[in-house]
Amino acid sequence: MYEISLHPVPDAVRKQALIDNDAYQRLYQQSVEQPELFWSEQATSFLTWFQPWEQLHRSDLKKGEAEWFKGGKLNVAYNCIDRHLEQRGEQVAIIWEGDNPSESAQITYRKLHSHVTRLANVLKSRGVKKGDRVCIYMPMIPEAAYAMLACARIGAVHSVVFGGFSPDALRDRILDADCRTVITADEGVRGGKYVPLKQNVDKALKDCPNVSSVLVVQRTEGKIDWQEGRDLWYHEALHGVSEDCPPEWMDAEDPLFILYTSGSTGKPKGVLHTTGGYLLGAAMTHKYVFDYKDGEIFWCTADVGWVTGHSYIVYGPLANAATTLMFEGVPNYPDASRFWQVIDKHQVNIFYTAPTAIRALMREGEAPVKRTSRSSLRLLGSVGEPINPEAWEWYYNVVGDCRCPIVDTWWQTETGSILITPLPGATALKPGSATRPFFGVQPVLLDEKGKEIEGAGSGVLAIKASWPSQIRSVYGDHKRMIDTYFSAYPGYYFTGDGARRDEDGYYWITGRVDDVINVSGHRIGTAEVESALVLHDAVAEAAVVGYPHDLKGQGIYAFVTPMKGLEPTEELKKELLALVSKEIGSFAKPELIQWAPGLPKTRSGKIMRRILRKIACNELENLGDTSTLADPSVVQNLIDKRLNQ
Ligand code: ATP
Ligand code: MG
Repeated sequence: MYEISLHPVPDAVRKQALIDNDAYQRLYQQSVEQPELFWSEQATSFLTWFQPWEQLHRSDLKKGEAEWFKGGKLNVAYNCIDRHLEQRGEQVAIIWEGDNPSESAQITYRKLHSHVTRLANVLKSRGVKKGDRVCIYMPMIPEAAYAMLACARIGAVHSVVFGGFSPDALRDRILDADCRTVITADEGVRGGKYVPLKQNVDKALKDCPNVSSVLVVQRTEGKIDWQEGRDLWYHEALHGVSEDCPPEWMDAEDPLFILYTSGSTGKPKGVLHTTGGYLLGAAMTHKYVFDYKDGEIFWCTADVGWVTGHSYIVYGPLANAATTLMFEGVPNYPDASRFWQVIDKHQVNIFYTAPTAIRALMREGEAPVKRTSRSSLRLLGSVGEPINPEAWEWYYNVVGDCRCPIVDTWWQTETGSILITPLPGATALKPGSATRPFFGVQPVLLDEKGKEIEGAGSGVLAIKASWPSQIRSVYGDHKRMIDTYFSAYPGYYFTGDGARRDEDGYYWITGRVDDVINVSGHRIGTAEVESALVLHDAVAEAAVVGYPHDLKGQGIYAFVTPMKGLEPTEELKKELLALVSKEIGSFAKPELIQWAPGLPKTRSGKIMRRILRKIACNELENLGDTSTLADPSVVQNLIDKRLNQ
């Protein structure tokens, strides 16, 4: 059996950490027993308010209602920039690392202020007002952060659309939020290739008559089409513009942004977040989860098009006056050593990435990692999917040289900030477990009848009390928010994830609830079977789904990607079945194993089991929305090689 190793908090880590286990216990208890006291202290210490709130908190989860710091006035850009200027104007706010390793830049807080205020004035001059929606469709360049902060400064609501999305996906999102302004670049650069962003915008806008301004950052100077009157160059528009732009006083409950979920389970939803609670959640978790201390270099590898980029590249770090690194490129360009080279080049202290990236780099072996020093690193993080214990150990041993704790952070676009996570100075780690709730978070496991499960057990993960950065609405479709998150289990926020709680009260995310497979009465989480399969040296990645089975109710269908350069054999199949039997039990053995050169993934790297389930069940006419797939061609291959049941 694969033994889950326990990693106690090293003394050296505990001693210098902001929060040790005693502090965690005390603060957690306070946060749930005296929430008024706890949250008013946190909101005062983390944020600067122009005017205090009238009511700290009011919520009714039965109706999906939540309000935090209502009546309080603040501005997110002011909190992320202006208030730092006096002490830290010359400190670097953003380190930018280009796709090409010879390109990088450093932007101080003072420079950031100059960019953001001028851009804010340009937006105003184009008629953008408080409450208007602005679409940001950008590569990973500092202007993406300037654009978000400029919107926040004037009270416009941004909707960042990942730069890898197609013109159709972009059009749908612009129309859904009725954006009138788009901020983009001529082209993006990723892995040495050019991405035709402006061209995509032009295509999308054919069906968006309300868009009156397109601001274009010159990134590559590639040739683009131009529509006079509508299009304007970013650098020309900002030239000579005043830096005098007083921040709008926003109510804590005024909208800050809309962000469409990545769509791994269905049609994307425009998740709406508000100002005060969101910023507090992002800032607090950035500081405590990553144990962030002044002067450290923090690198989150997500794209700003995802919530992880919003909360942990831009808002959390900047609210805390941190130095945040923004990377334009990809992990394997120019070669598979790039992440680790960037860490050495900029002396990164805290590194936060996704299991999909870790597994891809694991496939390349240890050499690309070991070529680099990584001695500046002291903490690693993971987010986006359950991290299988094998990838966890590799991350810990090979990347972190057994020195750096890993925070496996569970959260969602809808939660705004991290909800279940270790704190490095407080929490003994178990590979594959997101461990314990963050302050104020009250997770529960519910059984099929919606009853809370006590002690160790498995069920549906729900949250039983409001937290400041929770979703407030689905833009334009409030009913959809209620239906999706607050109807199935009245009085709870329903996460859509399944989880197990062990004897120590640690949470293990087992995958989406609709990914739980019921084989002859055994409820099996996809993550458990996948973790067992990837333990095999020959397996790079695996995804399992259920399909109808005459005898067992459901059978397990596994899609398995072998290691690079390896020819899969029948022998390997037998070994995999034996491995699953040994790790979980023979009831969890996949009936069918299909070799998959690639798996369908969202643009943010999550496996889309929804599509695999359709393939396994032979429901090919009805694959659903595939517009958010990173590489639609992998689907055809899987269909062609589909195994008959
Ligand atoms: P959609 O809701 O449109 O299907 P999505 O849920 O993939 O898209 P996100 O909000 O980015 O979009 O992802 C949140 C989900 O990612 C969680 O519900 C969970 O399934 C998974 N997840 C995130 N972090 C972790 C983690 N540390 N461990 C396990 N699962 C995680
Ligand atoms: Mg989701």
